Amino acid sequence: MNYHRLNFYKALFGTILISLLFTYCDSNRSDYLSEFASQIKRNFSHQRHYFYQNLMPGTKHETAVYRFQSESPNPGIIVIGGTHGDEPAGFEAAYRLLDYLSKNHPLKGTIYVIPEANKMAIIHGERRIPVPESVAIDAGDLNRCYPGRPEGLPAYRLAYQITEFIKIHQIQLLIDLHESPYFAHEIHAFEGEISVPGQCIIYTGNEIASRLSHVVCEHINQQISAHEKKFTLKEGPIENSAAWLAGAHFKIPGFTIETCKKLPLEKRIQFHLAITLNILKEMDIFQDSQKGNF
Ligand SMILES: [Zn+2]
Repeated sequence: MNYHRLNFYKALFGTILISLLFTYCDSNRSDYLSEFASQIKRNFSHQRHYFYQNLMPGTKHETAVYRFQSESPNPGIIVIGGTHGDEPAGFEAAYRLLDYLSKNHPLKGTIYVIPEANKMAIIHGERRIPVPESVAIDAGDLNRCYPGRPEGLPAYRLAYQITEFIKIHQIQLLIDLHESPYFAHEIHAFEGEISVPGQCIIYTGNEIASRLSHVVCEHINQQISAHEKKFTLKEGPIENSAAWLAGAHFKIPGFTIETCKKLPLEKRIQFHLAITLNILKEMDIFQDSQKGNF
């Protein structure tokens, strides 16, 4: 092998090594989380008791599912954070939920939590993950890819694995944590010019979801004095979203919770946690003594 060729292979090897290292570090960093959420994540990775399984195992999209069990397995409930990587209150609240559930065990049912559903979108602080130019950008938006596909682009595979998870574990209620740039009244002011929801609870059009969302919305709005900052209710999640999947495919209650990004992050996290815990409370997941004010 001549000298130039040797140098070429050395450089090639170096490049491959560096890019592998970057990919590894990229998917294993957690500086996108608050110190509190990072601490919870570290605690849960050290004690494997609540770790259940990874989705997208062996890929850079690999992400953990945690499980909290009671004596009786039903109902199975799934809470998803980090569907959109630029909506931090969702994944931050999901980590707080892990912490809460490890200290307040469910009396009934099994609760699964995926704090970082679309991990690569979260790491890069983006709504979507990149897709090839020839493909519509929504193919990188996890909340437009349900029920997903077993092969193909990562967001479709991720959606498929969540769909299969719901099917296999006979999940009976789904909560997906999101954020909106607006309050609900601002959306009305746009008069249909924008299609994003404001701060609201979006529920599937079935009786249980409707009842739960009305109760929970009234409860959370008691904590909000300014009328224009209150949560509103919206029936019918957007097609191919996780909550849509819950209603359309599985005929179970599904919720998309949207907090407004104009509020401080801590407030949005508290809203997500309070709404989620109140839904769980309404499902009789906790003992009476645990039913404090969330
Ligand atoms: Zn979202």
